[in-house]
Formats: sequence, C-alpha cells, structure tokens
Amino acid sequence: MTAGVNKSGKVYLIGAGPGDPGLITVKGLEALKKADVVVYDYLANPGLLAQARPDAEVIYVGKKGGCHTMGQADINALLVEKGAAGHTVARLKGGDPFVFGRGGEEALALAEHGVNFEVVPGITAAIAAAAYAGIPVTHRGLAVSLSIVTGHEDPTKPASQVDWSKIGSGTGTLAIYMGMKNLRRNVAGIIAAGRPESTPVAVVSWGTSPRQRCAVGTLANIADKVGEAGISAPAITIIGNVVRLRDRLNWFEKLPLFGKRIVTTRPGTQARELQHTLARLGAEVLVFPTIRIEPTHDLAAVDRAIGSLSDYDWLIFTSINGVGVFFDRMLELGRDARSLAGCKVAAIGPATAQALRDRFLNVDCVPRRYVAEEVVTALEESEDLAGKRILLPRAGAARLALPNELRDLGAEVEEISLYETLVETDIPPELLERVRNADFDVITFTSSSTVQNFAEIVGAGLVGEISTKVACASIGPITSQTARELGIEISMEAQEHVTEGLVRAICDWYKKE
Ligand code: SAH
Repeated sequence: MTAGVNKSGKVYLIGAGPGDPGLITVKGLEALKKADVVVYDYLANPGLLAQARPDAEVIYVGKKGGCHTMGQADINALLVEKGAAGHTVARLKGGDPFVFGRGGEEALALAEHGVNFEVVPGITAAIAAAAYAGIPVTHRGLAVSLSIVTGHEDPTKPASQVDWSKIGSGTGTLAIYMGMKNLRRNVAGIIAAGRPESTPVAVVSWGTSPRQRCAVGTLANIADKVGEAGISAPAITIIGNVVRLRDRLNWFEKLPLFGKRIVTTRPGTQARELQHTLARLGAEVLVFPTIRIEPTHDLAAVDRAIGSLSDYDWLIFTSINGVGVFFDRMLELGRDARSLAGCKVAAIGPATAQALRDRFLNVDCVPRRYVAEEVVTALEESEDLAGKRILLPRAGAARLALPNELRDLGAEVEEISLYETLVETDIPPELLERVRNADFDVITFTSSSTVQNFAEIVGAGLVGEISTKVACASIGPITSQTARELGIEISMEAQEHVTEGLVRAICDWYKKE
C-alpha cells in the first residue's frame, strides 16, 4: 500500500458523454474532480481533463479504431492496481461505460479483485448524436422502440453474431455503433430482412461536437452518400422514420458559429468566459494563450502600498490579473479588504469590477466605455481629482496614458507594478503548426499584447499572410491599430469592447457573409 493515500480506494467507471463536455453528469464530474488518478480514452473529450485536480495522475489508454495504446487486459490490471493501492480513480469513457464501452469487463475485473467501484452512467452516442442531429429516437406515431446494435463484426467469421434478419425486420429505430466499415453490408442485411429500401437513414459523425457531420439518405443510398460526404468513424447510423424529423428539428448545426474554428489568444483563466461563449454558439475553440502572467519578483513597493492604504483616496484596477495578485498578496501579509475602508475603488471595465465584487468589494466607478482613457472621465465626473492620491497597481509594461491624464487633473498618482506579462513559450507544437498553417476560421485579439505576442510566437513574417487567409476579430480600436501596424488585416472590430461585444461582432460578421 502506498504511504499517504486513502486506503479504501475506489474506481469510478464514468460515462463522459459523447463529445460535448457539457454532457457529463453532475455525479461524473464530482468524481472526476476528486480523483487522484484519471484514466481516459480516445472518445472521452480531453477538455474534461481540465476539471481534474492539478496534481492528479492522468493516464491515456487510447483505442482509436484498431490501434490500441493499451490492451483491455492491461487497462483492467491498471484499474485494479490503482484502486487496490487506495487511490480514487476516475475511469473516463466515451458515452456510457456499459454501452459498447467494455465497462462491464472492467467492473468484473474490479469485482474479482475486491476493489470498490461505482458506475456513473453517461449519455450514449446514439441518443446524444441523434438529438444533436435533430432526431428524437422515439416519437409518437413514428417509432415505439429503439434497438442499439454493433455494426462492427469480423467479416472473416462464418456466422454473424448480429442476426440482421430479426433486428433488421422491425419497425422501430435502429442505432448502429461502430458501423462505418461494414455499412454497405449491414444495410444490405437490413433490406434483406424486409425493411423497405426507402427507409430514411442518418449517419452522424463526431456527434455533439463542433465537428459534427451528418449524411441523410435511405437504406438504398446511404452508403454512397456517406462516401460522397467523406464521413468516417466515429459515427452512428440511425435508421427509421424518426430521421424525417431532422428537417424541422435540426437545431445544433444551425447555431450561429456551428463548426467554426476560432482561436483565442488571451491567457488561460481570462479566456474561459470567451471560450465558453463561443463553444455554446457551436464553435470549436482552439486555445492559444499568448501571454503568461508572472507576479512581480520584487514586491517591496506593493507591500509598502498595502501597508499604507489609508493614505490613498482612490485605488484603480486595470485588469483581473491585477486584482488577483493584489488581493493574494494582501492575504499573505495578513490583511484583507477591511484595509480599504477609507479608499474608493475604480475598475477599468466590467470584468475587473466583477473580480472585485467576487472579493466582496463594490466599485465606486466603472467607465461607460471600456478603454483606459474613459476611466479618467468617469473619475472626473465623480469628484474633483486635484490633490487626490491615487494608487494604480498594474502590469509592468502597461501603457502610460492613464497616469499622465490623471496627473494633468492635479491628482498624485503612484504606480506600482504587480505582475509582468511575458510572451507564452509553452504552446503545444501541433497547435502552433495548425495556427501557422492558418488551419482555422477566426482568430480573436483582446488586447494589444495578445497581438504583439501572437506575432512574436508565430513569426512576424507570417502573421500578415495568415490574416489574409482567416478572419481576424479585434476587441477595440487600440488593439486593431496594433494589429495593422504589424501587417495584420482586421476583419471585424467589437463595438462594445468586452467579451460579449467581440462575440457579437463575430456572429454579425458570419450573418453578413
Ligand atoms: N460507450 C460509447 C460507445 C463506444 S463504441 C457510448 O456509449 O457512446 C464506439 C462507437 O460509438 C463509435 O464507433 C461510434 O459508433 C459511436 N460514437 C461514439 N462517440 C460518438 C460521437 N460523438 N458521434 C457519433 N458516434 C459516436
């Protein structure tokens, strides 16, 4: 038994859902979040791994078509070993663990070795992919049953395990998993079983993800249609009259950004809101962080300011990062928001204001438009700034306009550097390659530094060329100008310089296209 681990280990066999990371269950997510070992395979959305504990051991066990990274017996042995060692293990499987997921075999191995386990069902591909293709698997008057069947069988075996003459002859909905290789043979078997050739069929690949593709036809022609559309595994074949409803119910593929590949360039935590919004609108988001935030090494000035907060009339925050570093340092010094009792607080925009609210501080002033200069106007309107002492904690390399404008109004401004914004160097090579090849549709720039750093990471000589092949979206005029100076063509600019404004600009641009 490993020292220090909880002795009663448990393995959770979790259905991660079919692709859309939002389709894991609450219970599955809870188990994933507390696990100290995460074992996942090809069809489980790797984006879910961000939900695991940062210190969790994460093991990929593969399985794509026939290429197994790890054989089933080895996976079983791994789960037994980790569970017996007292770990909490999240075994993430695509769809539902007990529907063609070999979860039964894993559970049997655990049971045999006396390792505790729980099964957390997931949404299986047939039901989810059909739903996202606008097909209810049962419907009054159209189908009163659903059969789930494998289409993958060894063609060299003399007798088929699937008796198509029985399964194929029904009138209900038929969902075939793993059926791409044998599609032609299987539909022939179903027609031979007596189902009319005109029966509607849909084949949905990468269902519920922004890569979802769907071919629709009949038993007679679906194999050709799938070939023409170039659709391949993983795909589900849905057979039956319910497929007709797709014409009216196809909602997912009609989302405003469905299937668009959009690159975000701001750093991790800040990008999340943008990424979620884009994903909800159907986009495939490529996370390409260009900035790395590092708290200032020399905190002497910060500590001095925190120690004498009662000396200031105003404290102005220009970013979420600034709020984070400032308040973390305050706590480290044994202080908290009470030290700000005599001080008014301003935020440059709504996200920064929200970061302050999250720390139980209401802001006294937020500018109407979200550019640095507007905060000056807003402060000026709220009171006479002559002689006022203003503390401005900010990034080391921030623009200088704001403090000078405040000084022009007679204020005494003290700037302290809280963090440095560095160029991110840790970009996965495949992602970098993809971006360099302009293998995406839209790139979003949310500040001048995202543009500058992007150019530096990708190569200044290449950015102009990339921008002619894709659409570049900018959050506002200053960002756009920096981009143009670097030879980047801006295709759209947000009217409201916040995340929603940027997303709206992208949606409007596609509407116009
Ligand atoms: N346990 C999984 C099924 C695993 S078998 C579940 O319950 O969904 C693998 C097969 O599932 C694939 O060959 C394909 O037929 C189907 N599949 C899995 N994910 C899919 C998706 N996102 N879209 C369409 N089919 C999918």
